[in-house]
Amino acid sequence: LLKDADAAMHAAKDSGRNRYVFYTQELDARAQESVEFEMGLRRALPREEYVIHYQPLVNTSSGTITGVEALLRWQHPERGLIQPNRFIPLLEDTGMIIAVGEWVLLQACRQCQRWHDSGHGTLRVAVNLSMKQFRSSSLLTSVRQALEASGLAPRYLELELTESVLVDDAEQALEMMRELKKIGVSLSIDDFGTGYSSLNYLRHFPVDLLKIDGSFIRDVVRNRGDAAITAAIAAMARSLHLGILAEGVETREQVSFLRSIGCHDLQGLLFSAALPPAQLAPLLGNLNVLKLAGARPSPIVPGTDNSATV
Ligand code: C2E
Ligand code: MG
Ligand code: MG
Repeated sequence: LLKDADAAMHAAKDSGRNRYVFYTQELDARAQESVEFEMGLRRALPREEYVIHYQPLVNTSSGTITGVEALLRWQHPERGLIQPNRFIPLLEDTGMIIAVGEWVLLQACRQCQRWHDSGHGTLRVAVNLSMKQFRSSSLLTSVRQALEASGLAPRYLELELTESVLVDDAEQALEMMRELKKIGVSLSIDDFGTGYSSLNYLRHFPVDLLKIDGSFIRDVVRNRGDAAITAAIAAMARSLHLGILAEGVETREQVSFLRSIGCHDLQGLLFSAALPPAQLAPLLGNLNVLKLAGARPSPIVPGTDNSATV
């Protein structure tokens, strides 16, 4: 009885607290499923079930892929490919993100070096860091080790932080960022505009690039507010000598707007989704496609597929 009551209490808490829930057998099934999910996640690293897909970062002035972002996926033996939003929060809650993050860093650096060796010598790789990783005392060692083991020059590694990392305990964050800069890697702010967007930290922290969050880009062509915010971020970045990149670019109209405000570095499904390395390789040298997608804005024609096929 106590066990069943406990399951009902957890369900009540999960659905927003301050309510009551009756126990049903379905609750047991759900609890069992989440226990199994977590156990599976614990085994994923030793069983080599994680895979990294890479999404191109393109520069529309040169029409080239200048870098890639490493995005983690879990190849679940039964459920298939699982996207990071489903399991990264659990990795963070359980602390497993430290070990998994270390693995991502090493794999991403190795893959980037492989691309350098095959003739794409200036490609950079961006790796996402979660709050826990950034706060971990082992981060500097993992970064140094990943670079050393892969042979990748530090300037080709870009670490993506979120704004919340910088606002919580700014002193410590500043110290960590300075140490990372000493190693020679570059630092970007991911999902910029969705957090506290403190303009003060931009002045003080050694940041190289702002990645404007995709939520501003989605309606940037139709929504004046989004357009104004995006243009303001771009102008601010320029005057602070920071790089600027727009995420979530899906249409040519967005490309032409972004180019008109001086934002030439773009990422999004218009160019390519995140792909396994083998599928990305042929794109790396294929400049024409990107030029076509980026350079000539064409009007949106209703009823047609406006995304470029890459
Ligand atoms: P993020 O770093 O902001 O990554 C961008 C997300 O937007 C990716 O989702 C990408 O697939 C998606 N995206 C790219 N282009 C478009 C587009 O044109 N339209 C739309 N609607 N979406 C687009 P994904 O791969 O599911 O990753 C989600 C988040 O998971 C990432 O957001 C990042 O915060 C986190 N993440 C992924 N890999 C790692 C990792 O290795 N470590 C950590 N700590 N976090 C990771
Ligand atoms: Mg990112
Ligand atoms: Mg982002």
